[in-house]
Amino acid sequence: MRLLHLLDKQKASAAAITHLPNVRYLSGFTGSNAILLISGRGATLYTDPRYDIQAHQEVQCSVRIVRGPLWPEVAREIAKRRLPTVALEADKIPHANWLEVAKLLGKGVKLRPMQGVVESLRSVKSPGEIATIRQSVQVNSKALAQTLKRVKPGMTELAVAADLDYRMRGLGAEAAAFETIVASGVRSALPHARPTAEKLKNDQVLLIDMGASLDGYASDMTRVVHLGKPGARIRGLYEAVLEAQLQAIAAVKPGASCADVDEAARGALRKRKLDRYFTHSTGHGLGLEIHEIPRIGAKVETVLQPGMVITIEPGVYVEDFGGVRIEDTVLVTETGVEVLTPTTKEFVVLAS
Ligand code: ZN
Ligand code: ZN
Repeated sequence: MRLLHLLDKQKASAAAITHLPNVRYLSGFTGSNAILLISGRGATLYTDPRYDIQAHQEVQCSVRIVRGPLWPEVAREIAKRRLPTVALEADKIPHANWLEVAKLLGKGVKLRPMQGVVESLRSVKSPGEIATIRQSVQVNSKALAQTLKRVKPGMTELAVAADLDYRMRGLGAEAAAFETIVASGVRSALPHARPTAEKLKNDQVLLIDMGASLDGYASDMTRVVHLGKPGARIRGLYEAVLEAQLQAIAAVKPGASCADVDEAARGALRKRKLDRYFTHSTGHGLGLEIHEIPRIGAKVETVLQPGMVITIEPGVYVEDFGGVRIEDTVLVTETGVEVLTPTTKEFVVLAS
């Protein structure tokens, strides 16, 4: 098991995994309360009686059903097996829990902070995971196409978001991967706008950022459409962002650093003096979580590898005018990149 090798490198004899997406990745368990104890003797999943049936259905490793808090039981097992050092996910476990575990284990057991270890395994997707992400992306794009047929002036942002969420589920997603963003007019200048009761109007831009969660795997896409004929200024911004997005996608290949990809987008906007309106990073990994490593940002030296699935999503946001972001989910292949998102990137005009 690759994780044991990594534990070795951390000089830990065991790891107690608590971050649920990591538990799911390593064991297959999808419930909401679990600790996965991993050592040279194998893995044991600790959960509570609500998940008795489910855990036995989902998990290959041994399962321990615990009434009450899980940690005392895990600590008992660590003591029984005389495991000298146990790694905990330092960036995921609440400080109070860390202290509690230290107290339960006593001075004989050393706790080692572990960070990003399972996440780095997760950053390179298996063929099965890639197949699931493809489905998630398809559902996401189909839902958008279905909703756009119904969008018209007078509809609220909230109604558009509700329709998108409804259609994603109707098409097979278990949920939206994150709170669907629908922002109309000047509100599109807020990169993470929550949908409001604001009604869509004619001659306005409409920004939609949505993702499906399908069998646990996220997709992520942003499109900007226009209600009525767009003016020159918004068309200019759209063209600039599209060019930046295409250049960033062209920079995606094995061996390229995340910083290289970010610079491809940022440089394209800089040429048009629009880089100051591009206020976030170019993208992020996604999978069991909507934001995973690697982050596609200016100082990130992480090198892209085949099997990584990332987003490419440059944007420009002009206060009191509006914003444009174009986002695709893409796969790093052996030779370059495959754009998974099938939705058109032409500036779609919805007739009013
Ligand atoms: Zn997004
Ligand atoms: Zn995103």
